[in-house]
Amino acid sequence: MSDNCLFCKIVNREVPSEFLYEDETYVVFRDINPHAPVHLLLVPKKCIRSINDLKDDDHKIVSGLFMLAKEMAKQEGVNNSGYKLLFNVEKGGGQEIFHLHLHLFGGWKR
Ligand code: 5GP
Repeated sequence: MSDNCLFCKIVNREVPSEFLYEDETYVVFRDINPHAPVHLLLVPKKCIRSINDLKDDDHKIVSGLFMLAKEMAKQEGVNNSGYKLLFNVEKGGGQEIFHLHLHLFGGWKR
């Protein structure tokens, strides 16, 4: 755990957040400032700063995030209507919380 990392605090339940999913590797919760009717954050418990900081050993964490996204889209009922997945990387890429997370956006009426 990194000091002053908000998502570490959420993972460790020091900051309250309702988890839609949790296992030994990940938690999933809703974004506090949603940019879509469904906006989830899929967060590995391991504190990795960004995609730039992935080590070879982390490949399972990343592939697992996509498998989890597929399941969460189904759970939220947006798998058939469609959704977007996004990693922001570093400040220029719009990243504000420096603990790896995958955004899942969906639920628009189209
Ligand atoms: P980033 O810009 O780093 O890719 O995304 C960080 C996301 O975390 C933002 O969309 C922001 O709204 C969300 N966020 C920031 N603080 C909190 C919080 O305390 N709780 C939740 N659920 N989401 C947060």
